[in-house]
Amino acid sequence: MILFKSLLVSLVISFSLIVGSAKASSDLVVSFDPVLNELSINLPVEMLPATDNAIPKFLSARTTLEGRVNLSGQLPAITRPGVAFGVADGGAFLFGGLDWLDTSEVRPSRLKLTSPEQYPGLSTAAQMQEWQANGDYNVEYALIPDQDLSQLHIFFGPYNINTATLMLNGKSVELRTYFKAENQDDSAAFLQASSSYIERYSEQVGDYPFERFSIVSAPIPVGLGLDRMTYVSEQILGHSYMLGRSLAHEVLHSWWGSGVIVDYRQGNWAEGLTTFMADYTLAEEQSGIKAKEMRRGWLQALNRAEQYEPLNRFKQASARSDQSVGYGKSAMLFYMLRQHLGDQAFYDGLRRYWTTSKGSAAGWEQLQTALESQSGTDLSAFFEFWLSATALPRYAVELADQSKAQQGYLIRLTIIAENAPQNGRLPIQLITSESAQIYWAEYSGSTSEVEVQVASEVDSLVLDPNFEILRRLDRPETMDSAE
Ligand SMILES: [Zn+2]
Repeated sequence: MILFKSLLVSLVISFSLIVGSAKASSDLVVSFDPVLNELSINLPVEMLPATDNAIPKFLSARTTLEGRVNLSGQLPAITRPGVAFGVADGGAFLFGGLDWLDTSEVRPSRLKLTSPEQYPGLSTAAQMQEWQANGDYNVEYALIPDQDLSQLHIFFGPYNINTATLMLNGKSVELRTYFKAENQDDSAAFLQASSSYIERYSEQVGDYPFERFSIVSAPIPVGLGLDRMTYVSEQILGHSYMLGRSLAHEVLHSWWGSGVIVDYRQGNWAEGLTTFMADYTLAEEQSGIKAKEMRRGWLQALNRAEQYEPLNRFKQASARSDQSVGYGKSAMLFYMLRQHLGDQAFYDGLRRYWTTSKGSAAGWEQLQTALESQSGTDLSAFFEFWLSATALPRYAVELADQSKAQQGYLIRLTIIAENAPQNGRLPIQLITSESAQIYWAEYSGSTSEVEVQVASEVDSLVLDPNFEILRRLDRPETMDSAE
C-alpha cells in the first residue's frame, strides 16, 4: 500500500504536466464497439484503486503496457427495467457508469469517449472538444475536481447529431438532438421547442446553468432530466405530445434537480416543483378546465389510498404510473403555496431559492426559507404539516344559519376540519339564485364558525368545487365527470 501512495504522488505531478494535451495519459477513456458489443474503460493508473465499490461484473481488468488499467467486457443486453448498464439496438447506456471509481485515489481530469463515428457517445459532463479520426468519433469532457460520479452518465447510440444555437443574455447555449435516422424529421421541432422552454425558464427562474442541452434517444422506456440533457425513449420521440409538457418538464429539471441538486435526506422537492411549473402551468395556460382536471386527477389518485408516504420521505416514483401520486401531491402543495402567497411573492421566492441554492444540494428547508424571506410570511406551520402528513385532511362545511341583514344576508358557516392543519383557508362556493361565487373561509381548529355577508339568500354551498386543496374527496367527486 505504501508503494501505491508514492505512485499517487507521481500521478498527481504528471496530471499537472500534461494538462492541455488531447492525448494526455491522465485521460479516462471509455470506448464502445457496437459490433462486438465491447465496452472498454481505460484508467490512468497502474493498479486498480483500493475501493469497496464494486466494479461492474461484466468488466475484467488487466494492466496495459503503458502502465494503465484496462477494464473490458461485453455490455449486458437490457433484460429488465431499472438496470444501470445496458445495450440494445437503439443505443448503450451507463448510468453512474464510473461510480465505483474511488476519486480520493484516482482523479482523472478528463473523460474521453471513443466509438465508431456512426455510433457517437456523449456524457452529462462539460464538453471540451470533439473530433473524428480513423473512422472513430471522439469527444472529451472536463471533469471537475469533486465530480459526483454517481451523477455522471455515459451514452452511445446510432445517432445523427443535429445542432442549433440559442443566444441568451449574450451567452450561447448549444442545443442538440441525438436521434436515430428514423427520427431525423422530428429533430427541428425538438430543437425549437427546447429552445423556447430554456428561454422561458431562464426568464422565470434565472439563467440556464449549462452551456448545452441535448435531447437523446433512449432504447429504454424512460424520460429523464439529467445534467445538460434529457434521455427520452425512442418509442415516444415521434409523438407530438412529447414536445409539450414532457419536454418542458425535462428542460425545467435543468434548474430543479440539476442546477439545484436534490438533498434527498429531506425528500425530493424537485419533482413536485417541476410538475407544477411545467406540466401544470402549461395546462393552466391552455384552459382553466384543463388545469382543474389535472388538480382533480392528482386528488383522485391520492384518494385511492388511506395513507401515503410523507413528502419529506418521497424519493422517486417507482413507476411512471405512480407519478400522479408522488408528483401530484407535491405539485398540489406548490399550487396551495402560490394560492397562499400570491403570484408575485411565490415566483420571486422561487427566484431567490434559485439564486441562493444553485450549484449545491438543497431541500424543503432552504425552499421554505427563500419563500419566507421573500414574502415576509411565516410558513413554518404550513411546511411542517404538509411535509410530514401521511393522510389527507377531511373537511365539512355546513350552512348553520342565515338571516336578513341591512344589506343582503348574513350567513354563518360551521367548518369541521379533521386531521388538518391547525389553521387554514377553504374555498367555499356560495350558490344563490343570482351567482355562484367562491368565498375563501379561514378556519382554526377542528370546529370553526365563520360569518359571511352576501348579497342574496344562499340556496346551497359546495366545498372546494375546483379541487384547490389537498383533501379527502367525497365519493361522487372521485368519479370521472363528463366535463
Ligand atoms: Zn421529473
